[in-house]
Amino acid sequence: MRLVVATGNPGKASEFGRLLGRDFQVEALPAELELPAETGDTFAANALIKARSIFAALACETAVLADDSGLSVYALGGRPGVWSARYAGEGAGDEANNRKLLDDLRGVSDRKARFVCALALLLPGSRGPLGSPAGRLLVAEGVLEGSILEAPRGNGGFGYDPVFRPEGWDKSLGEASPGEKDTVSHRARAVEALRGVMENQGGRP
Ligand code: IMP
Repeated sequence: MRLVVATGNPGKASEFGRLLGRDFQVEALPAELELPAETGDTFAANALIKARSIFAALACETAVLADDSGLSVYALGGRPGVWSARYAGEGAGDEANNRKLLDDLRGVSDRKARFVCALALLLPGSRGPLGSPAGRLLVAEGVLEGSILEAPRGNGGFGYDPVFRPEGWDKSLGEASPGEKDTVSHRARAVEALRGVMENQGGRP
């Protein structure tokens, strides 16, 4: 089954290609489609907003997977959270976001943090009460616990990977190969949870 991944982030898109390739024919977001504003105040709400918008734009005929993910730092009351992509300001890049995070944590000894990934998958085929196209919605979440380093390490991955050390590791995600990251990542765990939901609800697509 074809599956459009509702993200404009090439780092995420390639992770989903690796993680879902055996179940779906994974396609990038068509260039002419725009993602909606992320107005939700939870990862799950934002994933749903993105999935619904792109599913409707594709006439409810193509499976759409949207994720919303980010970093929650315990000592910062869960920030940057849903603002992870724009922590240092609208349009801020990864480097500026990482710099702000390290500045905010200067002198802070509790550096515990978690990555969270919420997934919303809309599958075509069902009809609404008036016969209009609808979709079957499946949701799942994955979490990766770890801590924030004092300085970036490695330049693999994307986003906060260079400043995040998964629990039990002695290196950052920025120093991990893509395959190593997939063994622990919040995104991989969310995809695994989603597979469980699909199996419970009548088998793989
Ligand atoms: P979203 O596109 O609104 O979900 O933004 C997610 C943001 O969270 C990204 O731009 C990154 O800053 C951060 N993020 C999410 N997942 C990861 C990851 O796997 N590694 C590093 N940063 C991530």
